[in-house]
Amino acid sequence: NTFQEIELIAPVQRALAEENYKTPTPIQAQTIPAALQGHDILGCAQTGTGKTAALALPILNRLGKNNRKAPPNRPFALVLAPTRELAIQIGESFETYGRHLRLRHVLVYGGVSQGNQVRALNRGAHVLIATPGRLLDLMNQGHINLEHLETFVLDEADRMLDMGFLPDLKRIISQLPAKRQSLFFSATLAPKITELAQSLLKNPVSVNV
Ligand code: AMP
Repeated sequence: NTFQEIELIAPVQRALAEENYKTPTPIQAQTIPAALQGHDILGCAQTGTGKTAALALPILNRLGKNNRKAPPNRPFALVLAPTRELAIQIGESFETYGRHLRLRHVLVYGGVSQGNQVRALNRGAHVLIATPGRLLDLMNQGHINLEHLETFVLDEADRMLDMGFLPDLKRIISQLPAKRQSLFFSATLAPKITELAQSLLKNPVSVNV
């Protein structure tokens, strides 16, 4: 059970080797191959299980395969996180695992001025990592358009609902293209979470670690 057995492109394998990752964690082993095949994922996993790589590696692999320029304001992948801290951490993972790829990612979160985020979006981002409130603000101002989106990730869905983000999430979800891959991660699966997952996912591969 090694990363070599998972069909990741060479630049991603190289970054993992440099990080000294040898074997995938259980959530990675159970979700990455399915995600690479294009399946939707419902992952029940806590922080510390390796879920960040589980969501980042399939996105990097897909985007790394085709050498597209990122058009301004139109990301190909969106990762939603409940807090700025988590968004930053996810951004660091994309940085690490994607270091041998020519992909751009942009972070948007509240509590700081919009200027730098807007300029970064204008320069083009393959991957957008965002918290819901700031994402909506920037969408409403025309700085983000999700029409090119291919992959949507909701991380720590339970925390999002606890923080009262459900109305924001519904507005964001209503703007997603129907044809997309969705990855959904939550530490718990209370009925409200399952309901949200069902509204987002098509025939998901469910994994509980
Ligand atoms: P996460 O659950 O995504 O917050 O990851 C927890 C920690 O595990 C992070 O510090 C990762 O760098 C590390 N990690 C993730 N996947 C692996 C792996 N397959 N082998 C070794 N370390 C890993």
